[in-house]
Parts: sequence; C-alpha cells; structure tokens
Amino acid sequence: MVAELSSQFKPIHAAPVAQITTSSAGSQMKDSRLMSDSSSNFEDAFDQLGLSLEEVEAFQLANRAKKVANSEVCACGHAMNKHTKYESGHWDCHTAKMWCPCQEPIPILVADDTKYFMTKTHGYGARHALATGLLRCRQKGVKTRMIVEPRCFKCDRQTDTLFPAAINRENRLVDVPADRNGIFCIECIYAFQGIQVESP
Ligand SMILES: [Zn+2]
Ligand SMILES: [Zn+2]
Ligand SMILES: [Zn+2]
Repeated sequence: MVAELSSQFKPIHAAPVAQITTSSAGSQMKDSRLMSDSSSNFEDAFDQLGLSLEEVEAFQLANRAKKVANSEVCACGHAMNKHTKYESGHWDCHTAKMWCPCQEPIPILVADDTKYFMTKTHGYGARHALATGLLRCRQKGVKTRMIVEPRCFKCDRQTDTLFPAAINRENRLVDVPADRNGIFCIECIYAFQGIQVESP
C-alpha cells in the first residue's frame, strides 16, 4: 500500500493546505471539511490539521529510502555516503581520518551504523578495510547484512568463502588502499597475485 502511494505522488493535495492562510477561502475550506465529518463525533488530529495523507506518506517514504542509502557500505570497506565524485571524473572516499582512492563504489552490505567502517586496507581478507570494519561492528553489536549475492566478483562463482581485496589499475592485488575493491574466491585472489594454480 505504501509503495503504491509513492508512485502516485500528488502535489495537488498540498494546495488546499497552503491556501488556508488566506482569509475567506481558507475558512470556507475548513467549514466544508467539518461538515463532511459531522457524522462522527471523533475527529482525528491528522484531519484537524488539514494535513495531506499522500504528502506526509511520500515524505516518510523518501526519508526512509535516504536512511537505507546512508546505511550502505562499499566494497572498499567504507560508507557509500563518504564517496565523492569530482569534476575530473575521479572518485575518492574519505572521512576526517581516512582517505581511500576507491574509483568504483559498489554497495555491498548495509549496517545499522556505518561509522565503524573507516579502517584502512593493509592487504586482502583479514587485512582489508571491509573485514576490519565488519569486526568493529561485531565488537560493538552493530547489525550488518549483505545486499549482494555471495559470488566472486571476478569469476562469478558462488561460494561461502570470499575474500575482500584491493586491486590496482594493473589488475594486481595490493596491500594498500586501491582503485578497485571486491570480494573474490581464493583462485581469483591467486590470479590477481600472478600465481598459477594447477587444476587437478
Ligand atoms: Zn573507501
Ligand atoms: Zn568505495
Ligand atoms: Zn573467482
């Protein structure tokens, strides 16, 4: 029901509310409203204020969507809302204490509080900012949830053992914050390191 209302946002409903301030038209409007409600003794405060149900619901929905966006965390291990795109077309991701060259922000999970995602990447897996950020959340009792399928970003294989990693422009795995970040299977981690794994 709520979703339905969002798609049919009608600013027209706002007009009568705004007009109440003008003397004659306003009082007329109010009277007719009271008349229509006279059948019942109880009048809801929502109607008494002349609020538009559609308008308030649309605002509530938009505000909720904003909160969801603000709770998203990028594959680089930092909150999506800490990413900035510059006129040059380049991105970065920063807080007062942290800077990261993330060029491809990808929302990967949501957290009840993203403020613990501001650690630095020192390698892949346990040493990546996504892993240390998630650890901090667990230590602080902050809930987190994946919003992407548990698949390797490179080979698309579905596995429950995925390693967050930073990849540089030369497509190599690095031990510092880098342009690209993702979650990868161990075979692809080896491939990024230039290690050939012989298949049995
Ligand atoms: Zn980042
Ligand atoms: Zn990022
Ligand atoms: Zn893979």
